Formats: sequence, structure tokens, C-alpha cells
Amino acid sequence: MPTHLKLNMCPIQNDKKCCSSPIYKIVNARLLMNHEIVEGSYLWFQNGKIINPQNLFFDHLREADKIIDAKGMLVVPGFIDTQINGAYGIDFADHEGSDEKIQADVDTVAKGLLQYGCTSFCPTVVSSEPAVYQKVLPHLNARKGSAAGGAEILGAHVEGPFISVEKKGAHKQAVFRTAENGIEDFDDAYGSELKKGSEAVSIMTLAPELSGVADAIPDLVARGVKVALGHTACKIAEAERAVVQGATSITHLFNAMQAFHHRDPGLIGVLGAADLPIPESSKGHPEPSDTSPCRTKPDPRPFYGIICDGVHVHPNSVRIAYYSHPTGAVLVTDALSAMGLPAGTYSLGGRDVAVDHNGAAYIKGTSTLAGSTVTIDECIRKFQKFTNCTVIEAVEAATLHPAELLGISDRKGTLNVGADADFVFLDDSTGEVQVKRVFVAGDEVDLSTK
Ligand code: ZN
Repeated sequence: MPTHLKLNMCPIQNDKKCCSSPIYKIVNARLLMNHEIVEGSYLWFQNGKIINPQNLFFDHLREADKIIDAKGMLVVPGFIDTQINGAYGIDFADHEGSDEKIQADVDTVAKGLLQYGCTSFCPTVVSSEPAVYQKVLPHLNARKGSAAGGAEILGAHVEGPFISVEKKGAHKQAVFRTAENGIEDFDDAYGSELKKGSEAVSIMTLAPELSGVADAIPDLVARGVKVALGHTACKIAEAERAVVQGATSITHLFNAMQAFHHRDPGLIGVLGAADLPIPESSKGHPEPSDTSPCRTKPDPRPFYGIICDGVHVHPNSVRIAYYSHPTGAVLVTDALSAMGLPAGTYSLGGRDVAVDHNGAAYIKGTSTLAGSTVTIDECIRKFQKFTNCTVIEAVEAATLHPAELLGISDRKGTLNVGADADFVFLDDSTGEVQVKRVFVAGDEVDLSTK
């Protein structure tokens, strides 16, 4: 058969998925790729994955079935939130009610997050009793996203109960624990779900100065759990030792940790570390930057989550963190159940939380911050404003960096071939980004209810 008659026929006749699934092509877009904005290029996807168009032309002799006109907008990977306690009146630590109710609540939040461009997230559970983890964690296991089903779940972020009484924040002290028996104590606290590794628990926040905790870090890492340091009164030596043991992240930098002191800078001082061992693999570590201990090798310093709502951390502090370690910045909302709801009093982990008109949430009757009500797109806008970084760097702090932290940058946080087709179309014509269209696993999300 002459070649021109073969168009629209797939030579792999038994590859039904290839033959039948529509191919999409995004045109007229400015694409965020490899730390640059690329113009005049296209993005192709099929079956929820970004594909290489050359394979289509030369191997499968196919053209796109559907053209998506981005109308000059900036197209970036879907946003990833690695710390979010809930939204719309729902708290992921709430174990009351039936399994059906808990599942329905998780779905409600997962769907709602898509409206802000958040296409994957780590549902976060505050310090709880073992019975609570056993009930809620099975509902927070990793699962794929879809426009109908909501943002992808990347496994839970369990914050505590191996945390410091001194830096407890809004957590319930009665359930706090130490780990004299090492990993056994962790299994005792979280139950069988922890044995599933990152499928169930993708991030664990702990305080390394507590008895037995730092020594258990290698066992947690071996299970695929990313260890984050937070809610801690640790000194710099304890923090650096925990990083050497395998901790790769800091939880909500500046909040719930020792304030910076020049003679012992505590956990914050890790941002200034110059002699940590250089990681052998880049996976799970920040890329080198001008401030890295070695500018050509992965940065041994941990990533750091930062709540960029303008309340939890002063803009100048955000700027200091960013300029000390730009490739480690991970924007998190730390949003709680009141996100998406008006000012008022709500419940978080069984405690009353008052939300004011700025969106700041405090333990009722105190000045202790309990979490935020900010959305991830707003964090990006604020981060760009506070640090004066480029739109590329601001977006990467909510896409590439969290994907690198989780060790999933082969499928999340980039627009590279093989990555999931999670996209956000941004209007950046005013200088700050506004979410206009959202795709998750190749499905477009209906934003009309936004
Ligand atoms: Zn916290």
C-alpha cells in the first residue's frame, strides 16, 4: 500500500488503546519546560500522558484528533500540594461516621482542589490515636485523578504524633509519642498502613530530637516514606544529623520550630549548611543552584515547605529562605477544613479554630496559628510577589519541586514526554498568574462553578 494511504491507520494492529484513544494537541501555548518558557511548540497527549509526536508521525502515521487552542496562555504542569488538612468543612483526620461518609468527604475535597489548579496532593492528617489512622489512612491511599473523581492522591502526609510538646502548635499533645523501640513504635502508632510505604504514607513529619526518632529515619526511608522535620525544638546538630540519616524535607519552615538564633540556628540553620554529604542520586533531592554547597551536584540540603499566605511567615522571611535555597522551596497551603468557607469557627482535629477575615486560622481564644485557608494558586502569586522571583520559579515551587521531593518528577511536575497530562492554563498578562483552564490525567475540568 502506498504510504499516503496508510494515514490514520496504526501499524500496531493489536494495540487497541493506541488506535482508539483520541490524541490531543495543545497549540498557541507558551509552555513551561526545562526552566524556560517555550513558544511556538506544541504539547501532545493521549491516554492521560504526554506523548512524543514524532512517534505518532513516523511509527503510527497519526495526526491529532483534537486541537486545544491555549490562546497564548502560559501552560504549566498541574500544581501539587504536599500539605493540606482538608477544605469545605472537611478534615482528613475526622474519623467519625461511616467509611462511605469518609470516602465521600475525601472525594469532595479532591474535586474542589481542581478549581485552583491543584491536580495532585498529599492529604494531611494531624497527630492522632492509632484507631484514627487505621480508619482514615485507607481512604487516603494513592489513587489516580480525573475530572469527575478529583485531584490525584499521592499518599498521605502524616504530621505527628512523633513531634515536640514544646512546638505542638494546634496538635493534640495527649497522643504524642517517642520511639525507644525504633520502627516498631511507628508501626504501633500508624498500624498496618505504614507497611504499605509511600502508597499509604508519602510524607511523615517528625521531631528528630525525640528519643529513638532520628535512629528510625533510615527504616522509614527504606519503606519509601519521605521524612520531613517539623514541630520540633531541635538544635542545628540534631537537624543536620537527621538529614544525614535521610530526612529530605522541612515542614512549614519557620512555623513550629526554634526561632533563628545566630549561635545555634536550629532547624532553620540547615538552609545554611555547607558540609552535608552530597547525595549520590539526584532523585528526591533539590537541583543545584548558585547557593548550593556544590553547584554541579544535587543539593544535600532538604526541601522546605513554606506557607505563603502572608500570615504564617512574614514576606521578608519568605524572601530570606528563597534566596538561601531557591531550588528547595515547596509551596504548601497547610489549609484546613475552613478553606473554601467564610470566616467563622470550625473544627480541626477535635479543636475549635477561629478563622478571621484575612483567612488566618487560630486555636480559638489564643494567638496560636492552626493552619491556613489559602489556596495553592494564591500561594504562587504571593511567593512571586514576596521574593520578586520569576513566574517560572514561582510555578516550579508548586510543581517541579514538590514532585522532586516526592521522587515522582518522572511523571509529575513537568511537561516532559511520559509525564501525566495534568496542566494548568494561566493568564499571566497582568504579571500575576490566574488559573483559566485545568486538565487532570488528560481530562478538562469544568471551572464554571468557580
Ligand atoms: Zn503543622
